[in-house]
Amino acid sequence: MFESTQELGLEPHLTPKSVDSLKCISCGLCEVGCSPGARWDSTRFVDDAVNKGAVLKTRSPVKKVIIEKERGRGVMVGSGSASKVYEADVVVLAAGGIGTPQILKASGLPAEDRLWVNIVLTLGGVLEGANQLNEPPMAWYTKEEDYILSPYIDILSHFLHEPWKNVSIQDQLDLWSN
Ligand SMILES: Cc1cc2nc3c(=O)[nH]c(=O)nc-3n(C[C@H](O)[C@H](O)[C@H](O)COP(=O)(O)OP(=O)(O)OC[C@H]3O[C@@H](n4cnc5c(N)ncnc54)[C@H](O)[C@@H]3O)c2cc1C
Repeated sequence: MFESTQELGLEPHLTPKSVDSLKCISCGLCEVGCSPGARWDSTRFVDDAVNKGAVLKTRSPVKKVIIEKERGRGVMVGSGSASKVYEADVVVLAAGGIGTPQILKASGLPAEDRLWVNIVLTLGGVLEGANQLNEPPMAWYTKEEDYILSPYIDILSHFLHEPWKNVSIQDQLDLWSN
């Protein structure tokens, strides 16, 4: 598929992955647990910070950012008599697409009541013995103006989408568009 995409002039690129390539055995099971321990995520940076003396507070839902003179000076966690304030030089608010606007609003900062979502379309084809299930998903991508294309086997369609139920999962070859 990579070569065909090149021939079509779509200029595929290798997808940057949070994967230790020396440990990866290319089993294709990234999403359901990585038994060789090759996959990593940003919690690694949290561990690094803690090892260097940072204090990690879990079970501390942030209610609002404390703002003084137009600068974030800390956060308030908990509520009522159980609330606490953690002072800070810098506040990095990263509570996700739903949590962040709630905290912004509670802090008196503007946030819009709109949520943007991206739409995923999987294009399926049949290729005998493709065995796409046995390769890492989305190993490469092409970037068009408004979307990307990337190889990704849509297992749900195999089980739930009527026309695909009779196609062997080994023969299903899919492309993800998003
Ligand atoms: C089903 C699904 C599939 C996806 N697949 C992909 C993919 O294949 N590739 C890709 O690149 N992206 C994918 N995404 C998108 C990706 O997961 C998000 O873009 C990314 O996780 C956003 O990271 P974040 O750190 O901004 O927020 P999040 O990962 O949402 O992290 C926010 C954190 O803040 C915590 N939090 C929330 N409120 C508070 C609070 N008041 N106090 C303290 N903590 C709080 C939450 O518990 C959470 O741990 C997918 C998303 C979904 C839902």
